[in-house]
Amino acid sequence: MFKNKKIFVLGMGKSGCAVARLLAKDNHVLITDVKCDSLDLIKELEALGVNVIITKNQEEIFDDSYDYVVKNPGVRLDHPIVLKAQKYHIPIITELEVGYRYLPEVKVVGITGSNGKTTTTMITYEFLKSAGLPVHLAGNIGFPLCDQIDDIHKGDIIVTEVSSHQLVNLDKFKADIAVLTNLYQVHLDFFGTYEKYKLNKMHIFDNQDNNSIAILNKDDQEVMDMTMGIKANKKYFSAQAQDKADIYIKDGNFIYDGDTILNVSDIRVKGMHNYENIMAAILVAKEFDVSNLVIKEVLNNFAGVEHRIEFAGKLNGREFYNDSKATNVDSTITALKSFDNEVVLILGGLDRGHSFEPLLPYLKNVKHIVCYGETKKRIAEFASKHNIDVTVTDDLEEAVHAAYNISLEGDTILFSPACASWDQYKDFEQRGCDFKKIVSTLV
Ligand code: ADP
Repeated sequence: MFKNKKIFVLGMGKSGCAVARLLAKDNHVLITDVKCDSLDLIKELEALGVNVIITKNQEEIFDDSYDYVVKNPGVRLDHPIVLKAQKYHIPIITELEVGYRYLPEVKVVGITGSNGKTTTTMITYEFLKSAGLPVHLAGNIGFPLCDQIDDIHKGDIIVTEVSSHQLVNLDKFKADIAVLTNLYQVHLDFFGTYEKYKLNKMHIFDNQDNNSIAILNKDDQEVMDMTMGIKANKKYFSAQAQDKADIYIKDGNFIYDGDTILNVSDIRVKGMHNYENIMAAILVAKEFDVSNLVIKEVLNNFAGVEHRIEFAGKLNGREFYNDSKATNVDSTITALKSFDNEVVLILGGLDRGHSFEPLLPYLKNVKHIVCYGETKKRIAEFASKHNIDVTVTDDLEEAVHAAYNISLEGDTILFSPACASWDQYKDFEQRGCDFKKIVSTLV
């Protein structure tokens, strides 16, 4: 808990505002950002006694009189305030750390990894909720922990996604159950080197002890190497039928503790990467004795996290998937690997000049590409060069109609654009919602 402290909150995102609201009760809080479009938000915070300052010169309002700096996870490590705080030896913490210190006695599940955090977090939450357990979803996914403190009671369970950015400034946060999904070379712009990035991920295990649980990906050698010395009890998942793992997939069956829980055909979400996320979530659920029946029921219905290979409907034997979050070629490759039937692929969006060539080895079951947006011409050239049928359209609506008309019964229509959305949309969420809306008008 924090009392009578002077606290500088950097960034007025959802998490920064949640921190300010919580801390304002007993502390002197200043929150700042370079801009804020919502006058209502400013008024609301001011009414709570928060000092709100919108300025491009944040350095000018910061001095060594502060007890803490709360940093929005996205703020760079070389931000002038961060450097100055380090010089003054002022602790820098995040919203998650603040919220953690206000928690009663609860069980915390912290989920991290380079990919699959949100999906694993959502599935875990669904398992626990469906089992009737008192669970709260918190963290990066738009539900700051600090906003939920009043609703959390002793004995509850908190399931929270923990991003690399949040791990930088963890101090007291302890995950009773920590999940590390995988390690890939990402965020190198933020961390400088892959080694630093990987070491930072290990902070999730820092405060664990031998009563804690670590759920790890046995197929990821780097995860295995990096976690060799951690104190927690390790539980493993493996997609490669490794019977030394606590859960693994063999002949399409998920095997846990010698029992088949379900078959991949019982699951709506697609792709081996999602099966890995599911196995991690099952291992968490099993720590809380969730039954196989509940797990099966949840997975029968779970359509995926919005905009991430999300099942978006079925019409006349065609299945539609919304993967609007795929703003680069790598994500589209992950999506393509998830389907083994015939696919009509919709690509297009903002032109960053990136190459589409890396897609080629994964297009074997793509019978047709439909492209739209700023990149449509370059995508059409790429497809023609490799003798792949292509249709060029102007916008997503035209693209979805064209894809539907080209498709046959049994096909998948996959919207995994491999481009950012900003040529025609505000963000990938708006684009994905538009895709679903267009699909629903076909029905
Ligand atoms: P994160 O929260 O870590 O960004 P998400 O669950 O939001 O991850 O998934 C984002 C994208 O990452 C997915 O659309 C998919 O392309 C890829 N992905 C998800 N899970 C995995 C996984 N276990 N391994 C590899 N890639 C994955």
